[in-house]
Amino acid sequence: MEKITMTTPLVEMDGDEMTRILWGMIKEELILPFVDLKTEYYDLGLQKRDETGDQVTVDAAEATRKYGVAVKCATITPNAARVEEYGLKEMWKSPNGTIRAILDGTVFRAPIIVKGIEPYVKTWKKPITLARHAYGDVYKGSEMVIPGPGKVELVYTAQDGTVSTELVHQFQGAGIVQGMHNLDSSIESFARSCFQYALATHQDLWFAAKDTISKKYDHHFKDLFEEIYEKEYRVSFEEAGLTYFYTLIDDAIARVVKSEGGFIWACKNYDGDVMSDLVATAFGSLAMMTSVLVSPQGYYEYEAAHGTVQRHYYQHRKGQETSTNPMATIFAWTGALRKRGDLDQLSGLVRFADLLEQASVRTIESGRMTKDLALITELSDVTVLNSREFIGEIRKELEALL
Ligand code: NAP
Ligand code: MG
Repeated sequence: MEKITMTTPLVEMDGDEMTRILWGMIKEELILPFVDLKTEYYDLGLQKRDETGDQVTVDAAEATRKYGVAVKCATITPNAARVEEYGLKEMWKSPNGTIRAILDGTVFRAPIIVKGIEPYVKTWKKPITLARHAYGDVYKGSEMVIPGPGKVELVYTAQDGTVSTELVHQFQGAGIVQGMHNLDSSIESFARSCFQYALATHQDLWFAAKDTISKKYDHHFKDLFEEIYEKEYRVSFEEAGLTYFYTLIDDAIARVVKSEGGFIWACKNYDGDVMSDLVATAFGSLAMMTSVLVSPQGYYEYEAAHGTVQRHYYQHRKGQETSTNPMATIFAWTGALRKRGDLDQLSGLVRFADLLEQASVRTIESGRMTKDLALITELSDVTVLNSREFIGEIRKELEALL
């Protein structure tokens, strides 16, 4: 069989621990035999980040701006224990944080749906994609403990020295206070990423906040979304037959639970933090969550939502076979290959990505799966495989489909 050709390279960001092992297996078994793979390779493994003073992460993000599409393996975000384990020069920042800061993007997370791994919510038939705003609010808040009676005010001093104040509370006794902010530029980027991604994936977009209570703060989010939608996206949405609407967060939750899925749910930072875990868990498994960072300029970086699966890696290092689930990492590759194919008009590459996903899903639906899924599946005749065997079974399915 002739290999599928590519024209523009993908930005490939390798990572750490068990996911780095899976990365190698996926390339070797599921991609390289079929695709004449073109990538610009960046090793984001912790050792390399340390050697380069984390420059490699910056370079990888810059390359994504150049080429437009990246695929990333999970990476370690160092803490004190990791500094010691790897003898690091510094406690380097989270690579995802660094990349997000450079691409200015929004993260969209969606579950992989297979028969036999059923969502806890019976009505859910299609994936729900959660978009979380990743800047500001309580995550960049400042807080104070108020020891006793006194007045708390918000004070804004403009550059020309003009002062405006707003009373927060006249305390009669002890209490607490919190100040938080957001930026129009960040909210606008968030909105544009959401509209772009809705169009790119042909899904409706919901945005929810609490503007009835937060009449200036949340209302401002609502207004900016509305303004950008009307000016820049309404026409394309209507042409595509898609809907955008804003609703209150409590109404959104009721609708989400009663829905059958198949839309994008945009949330403010805190709501997104909480709701993405809820959606992921309700769909079944973290190992089945995909994740893509979309910049407002339309750059895409695909990855798995889970981490490096450290516990399994230590077993692997002892020479034991592990049953780590590669699905989300496979789907990071298929997402990136499909997007590359779309952009470069390579229908063969798009088809390959579709078939690799189908092969992966079929393997699980036929009862061959990793241990994490075997524990939650409703299928009765199940074979638990280690990662290598599971990938081998996917390859057989893929060869049959091709
Ligand atoms: P994790 O890697 O997501 O794994 C947590 C647990 O979830 C695992 O121990 C395993 O449970 C289960 N799990 C996750 N993915 C799985 C898979 N593909 N197959 C089977 N089971 C899976 O989180 P962590 O262990 O807390 O973090 C490890 C490292 O990942 C940390 O250094 C963290 O900084 C990094 N991290 C990176 C990213 C990223 O790059 N995007 C995201 C999150 C965390 P059992 O042990 O019960 O089998
Ligand atoms: Mg969280």
